[in-house]
Amino acid sequence: MTPKSSPATVSPLNGTKTHLPAPGLAQAETWVFDLDNTLYPASCNLFAQVDTRIGAYIADRLGIDGDEAYQLQKHYFRTYGTSLRGLMLHHEVNPGEFLEFVHCIDLTPVPPDAALDQALGRLPGRKVIFTNGSTKHAENVMARLGVSHHFDAVFDIVAASYFPKPEPFVYDLMVRRHWIDPRRAVMVEDIPKNLVPAHAMGMTTVLVRTDSDWAQDGVDGAHIHHVTDNLVSWLGGVTAA
Ligand SMILES: [Mg+2]
Repeated sequence: MTPKSSPATVSPLNGTKTHLPAPGLAQAETWVFDLDNTLYPASCNLFAQVDTRIGAYIADRLGIDGDEAYQLQKHYFRTYGTSLRGLMLHHEVNPGEFLEFVHCIDLTPVPPDAALDQALGRLPGRKVIFTNGSTKHAENVMARLGVSHHFDAVFDIVAASYFPKPEPFVYDLMVRRHWIDPRRAVMVEDIPKNLVPAHAMGMTTVLVRTDSDWAQDGVDGAHIHHVTDNLVSWLGGVTAA
């Protein structure tokens, strides 16, 4: 991967590419991790389950058929960043009820990850989850992975007043709520555009690359300092450096 607008070097961190300049990882006080498709592989495909349940919820709640529900779901997603936002604005949907329903999924595709547990255990600094999902979903996934004990806090879509990443004010809310100095923080994400506000605030940014279509725009952007296909191995490089 070659950056368009900033020089890059092959980093000692497992051969992944590093865009310069990037604030130091060793000085990081706080690590901000996305949850879905970042802490576990996108190949687990949990989103397909959530996507189906969102459609089912809309069909049932609005009394419409599956095709119509799907169109509305995608329309609201494109217009407001999440289907939930459109449902709240236009149909007075209860967000708590919605989140409970759509995250009621089978987590067995997510494997317990002892290597991730070890890598996080060796990583200095406070760790926070920053997710467009719910806290309960994050807790369920972290428990399944076996990494819950590494994280001090979850900043979820409820804490964000139901506005999703990459809405910039949500990042401001997140750092204020958890007393994070962005210049001493690292954010790890699978969706490139979600790293734009983090970079603008002075965070070091790490992209966990996936094959998902929606995660391709901006993969070589200058707002991304580090790129890896394997989070565990990359974190191992950080602590070995
Ligand atoms: Mg994600």
